[in-house]
Amino acid sequence: MALPQVSIDYIDPHTYPKGIAYADNQYLDMSKAKLSILDYGFLHSDATYDVVHVWKGSFFRLDLYLDRFFSGLEKLHMSIPYSKDEVSRILHNCVALSGHKNAYVEMICTRGNSPSFSRDPRDVINRFMAFAVPFGSVSNPKLMKQGTHAAINPTVRIPPSSIDPSIKNYHWLDLIKGLYDAYSQGGETAILLDTVGNVTEGPGFNIFCVKDRTIKTPDLGILPGITRRTVFDLCNTLNITCEATTVTPAQLEDADEVFISSTAGCIMPITKINQKTIGNGSPGPLFQLLKDAFWEKHENSEWSLPINYNG
Ligand code: PLP
Repeated sequence: MALPQVSIDYIDPHTYPKGIAYADNQYLDMSKAKLSILDYGFLHSDATYDVVHVWKGSFFRLDLYLDRFFSGLEKLHMSIPYSKDEVSRILHNCVALSGHKNAYVEMICTRGNSPSFSRDPRDVINRFMAFAVPFGSVSNPKLMKQGTHAAINPTVRIPPSSIDPSIKNYHWLDLIKGLYDAYSQGGETAILLDTVGNVTEGPGFNIFCVKDRTIKTPDLGILPGITRRTVFDLCNTLNITCEATTVTPAQLEDADEVFISSTAGCIMPITKINQKTIGNGSPGPLFQLLKDAFWEKHENSEWSLPINYNG
C-alpha cells in the first residue's frame, strides 16, 4: 500500500479569536502562534502561566501578576531571557497591536523541547509566549444576578504536597473531573476539598464565605489569586474583616453569602451549594459592595496601567 503524502503546506482548519501573540521574538496573528507537540508544556503539562486583564484600555494590577509569574518560574526552575519590565513591555505591545480595549492577556512559559528527546528537564530550553485576545468573562449577566449553583466534589482531592497549587499551572484534570461531577449533580461549577476535607478552590477561582459580616477564605491548597488579594485590599479599605483560614464544607453551606473570585470573571456570587440555598438565594450585600468597589478601582491610577495604542 502506498504511504500517504506528507503535508508540506499545512492548512490550519481551526479558528482563533482576533488577537496578537508573541513567540520567538516576533509579534504574530493569533493563528500563527504555534507550539511543538514535543514541547513538555504540552506533553507533560510542564508549564506555568499567568493571566491579567485589560479593562477600558488599562492593565489592572499588572505588577502583582508579573510577581506571581516570576515566582512560578523560579519554583519550577525555569528561566526566560526577559526581565519583568521586558515582559510588561511585550504584554503591552500585544494589547496595543491587537487594539483591544478589554483584553484577556496571558503570559506562558513551557519547559520547552529537547532535540534529543531527553527526559532530563535540565536539558531543555524553556519557551516564553504571550498573547492578547478579547476579554471574555467566565460569568454572564444572568449568573451575576441570580448566582451560580456549585457542587462540592465528594471524591476529588487537591493534595498541596503533590502539585504546588500556588504555582499557576495547567494540571486541570482534577478541576475538570470536578466540573463533570458537578454537572451530574445538577451544579454549574465545582468546589474541591483538600485531603483532610477542607475547602480549597474551584476551576479557575478562589472561594469566600460570609458569616455575620466576617469573610473567610481558604488559606491552603489554593492559588493565591490576584482577585482574592484585591478582595483583601478592598476589605481593608472598607473596614470589613476578611480572614485567610480553614473553611469547612459545613461553613460554606451555612454561610450568609458565598462568592468566588477570578481574573476572568472578577467577583461572582454563589447562591446554591449542593442542594442548600445560600442566604435568601440572591447575591448578598457584601458581594454587591465588593463587586462595585472592585470595578471602581479600575479607574484608580495606582492600580491600573494605561496602554498606549499609538506606539
Ligand atoms: N485558582 C485557580 C486554580 C485558578 O486557575 C485561578 C485563575 O485562573 C484562580 C484561583 C483565581 O486567580 P486570579 O484571581 O489571579 O485570576
